[in-house]
Amino acid sequence: MKYALIILIVLLGAAVLYFKDQVLLSPHDSYYSALLRENLKATAEHWKAEAEKSLAAPLRISLPYSERHLLEVDYLQPITFAFDLKIDELIQVNIFPSINTRAEVFVDVFHVKDAATEPVRIGSMAAKEQQFKIAAEHTGQYLVRIQPSHAAQGLMDVTITSPLRYGFPVDTERENAVQSLFGVGRDGGARRHEGIDIFAPRGTPVIAAETGFVSRVGDTPRGGKNVWVRGDQRSFYYAHLDSIAVVAGERVARGDLLGTVGNTGNAVTTNPHLHFGIYKFAQGAIDPLPLVGRKKSLTTYAPPLVELAPRWLSVKTEKANLRSGPSLKATSVASLIRAELVQVDSVAGDWLRVTTGEGTKGFIARSLTQTPSESILTLTENYVAFYLPDDTAPVVGNFSAGDKLPTLGRFGSFAWVKMPGGVYAWAKAPEQENSTTH
Ligand SMILES: [Zn+2]
Repeated sequence: MKYALIILIVLLGAAVLYFKDQVLLSPHDSYYSALLRENLKATAEHWKAEAEKSLAAPLRISLPYSERHLLEVDYLQPITFAFDLKIDELIQVNIFPSINTRAEVFVDVFHVKDAATEPVRIGSMAAKEQQFKIAAEHTGQYLVRIQPSHAAQGLMDVTITSPLRYGFPVDTERENAVQSLFGVGRDGGARRHEGIDIFAPRGTPVIAAETGFVSRVGDTPRGGKNVWVRGDQRSFYYAHLDSIAVVAGERVARGDLLGTVGNTGNAVTTNPHLHFGIYKFAQGAIDPLPLVGRKKSLTTYAPPLVELAPRWLSVKTEKANLRSGPSLKATSVASLIRAELVQVDSVAGDWLRVTTGEGTKGFIARSLTQTPSESILTLTENYVAFYLPDDTAPVVGNFSAGDKLPTLGRFGSFAWVKMPGGVYAWAKAPEQENSTTH
């Protein structure tokens, strides 16, 4: 009997460990393990290493963001985007593969506590899903890493948005209605404004920003006629009401009428407005503004229709900046020169997300690129032609010193050359010893 109990405890312990492991493994981790199980160790390690490299060098975007990328079997293309969010704001990632796309896509969201700490994964899109949504637990930087399965092929649109978390609590246009922000001084600096003020004519409907139950209805010197609605881990405070339309204990859904805009309480000398506050349990007042209004993004965000660019383009101008984000305001991460080739990873509106021959990733204005044109390269040594601009790629041919080959340009230490049969290959060239003639 005693032994049976011990065996039972051991079995239970093993079960707990097993299930804990199942829960902690993200689809990204599981895919890596699956590659290992299929004896694709080199592929698995390369795939994982690229993911880690990408996470360590994110590109900066602002939301909403969308891009279309071309998935090609030969290219592993993890990408990590960085952006800032305020506490409780939502992150939504949508993946839209085109009909013939053959790829699994892994989306992981990370929070960056500070520069000295490793990013912490806060959530992952479930396998086979195409949408993932999660809220920011802290104000700060977040990362979204998107990585297709190896040998992925086809087209994929990606959007990253921050949909509004709650409804707007006054039945009025958002524009210019919010006139007093969160955190500004009150009573000569003795306290801070624990909400926002939304101005509207007396009698305008005040509506529930979120579903919950009415926890308190009152009339106090400061808030005047006020309503508290308790929702999931949060309380919503509606104050200075002219009239109240609910009673304590009542359930309200988002959009339900709570009362009307007024100037009761300490707002008697001010124009009618709603004081709206959100209190998060164990944290206190948080800024409602990013959660309810004044935002560029909409709840549904359709990716702009863009023509896909070719995989390889060359720099059209004397010099061009590669930027950390798709904006002229983004910092320059590299300077590119005329005729230099870039590998196009995706199209984001008027910007291309590219990789340079040095392996740097960034954005270049599409207008600064063009289809590469041919010039003649005279070889000064013997060369090896690779299938890809990568020493470890299959060898597809050899060239001898003195050969003259049509070339479309350089990518790092490789020249993209036309082989005698008309097929293009990547010739590994020594440092700047040969010159191109135009
Ligand atoms: Zn106020």
